[in-house]
Amino acid sequence: MKTTLHTDWTVGDVCKGFIYDKNEGKGLFGLGGKLIIQPEYQRNYIYGDGKKDVAVVESLLKGYPLGLIYFVLNKDGMLEVLDGQQRITSFARFVNQSWPFAVERNGKPRYFNSLDADEQKKITDAKLTIYVCEGDPSEIQEWFETINIAGVPLVKQELRNAAYHGPFVNRARAVFSNTANANMNRWQTYVKGDPKRQAILETALDWVSHGDIDGYMALHRNDAGIDELKNHFETVIDWIDSVFEYTGSEVCGLEWGRLYRQYHGNAYDKDAVTKRVDELMADTQVSSRGIFEYILGGEQDPSLLNVRVFDEKTKRAVYARQTNDAAAKGISNCPLCAIGHDSNSKRIYKMTEMDADHVTAWSRGGATDEANCQMLCKTHNRAKGNR
Ligand SMILES: [Zn+2]
Repeated sequence: MKTTLHTDWTVGDVCKGFIYDKNEGKGLFGLGGKLIIQPEYQRNYIYGDGKKDVAVVESLLKGYPLGLIYFVLNKDGMLEVLDGQQRITSFARFVNQSWPFAVERNGKPRYFNSLDADEQKKITDAKLTIYVCEGDPSEIQEWFETINIAGVPLVKQELRNAAYHGPFVNRARAVFSNTANANMNRWQTYVKGDPKRQAILETALDWVSHGDIDGYMALHRNDAGIDELKNHFETVIDWIDSVFEYTGSEVCGLEWGRLYRQYHGNAYDKDAVTKRVDELMADTQVSSRGIFEYILGGEQDPSLLNVRVFDEKTKRAVYARQTNDAAAKGISNCPLCAIGHDSNSKRIYKMTEMDADHVTAWSRGGATDEANCQMLCKTHNRAKGNR
């Protein structure tokens, strides 16, 4: 890879012809049309948070360097930003006042046009340090994947998008990484993470590929369409909607792709399901995130509910009470041994030889508190659990 250092381009030069596309969430061109600011393999613009974008402009106003910027020279003579997209988009939004933001000067918010002329000049005349790289795509790609863009490390899916860039990723990003997508709110009810950091796309790919995202992206890299990806994702979301009424935060980020595969062949009565969700949600003894799979599985596997276990303090108190009573009566401190007829009927167990048991099972409404706790010898506790 060949690199050439340029120190004569200014902020003003790069801002020429800049337009910010708010729908696509990216800056488009600069340098009077010669520079592609967001090439297809780049991540979305994530500096538009009123902090990182402002910090870029503050740096320029203070005369600080913005750090190294890398462009790639394409065969057609166009330049693409390899590293620096976030910084360039931030100062260009400010200078060109497209999706503008203000910086604070002397306690007042100021847009570019309301800055003093010398301050405007300080920004637009600032010289940038830019390396222009030439090389074959695989070299540039490899290099891109190893750099750490402006202090915000690339997440796994952003790296995959770079590694498999092409028509498929472009189409997929336009749907799943686009915060202006009308479906985004509904999707984010069930899928966790920031669409701009590719979290929704990553989940959609995970579901359709049964976890083999890289394999799927490699296979479909040059596809012009994303129908399978889109249809599968929407099918899963529609299925969740058809089974569950509940849309609280507990449903966000569950393994819906796997749950769909495992359970979508079963029939569910939505009203009955809704009633059970409400009942289990109201039960403080259970872990609420496990409720959904528990219901989907026909309420067969209580371990999904992570029913609370007795704490050490409760166990010690119950052990002491049972053991004192048993010693006074000359019987075993395991109540089930005590009613038996073998040699264990008078045995006093150590605390380590016993386990805590719900007198009334959780599934029959028994609470996890001292009043519903009894200590049983390990043998009896195991026997009771297997019933
Ligand atoms: Zn026993």
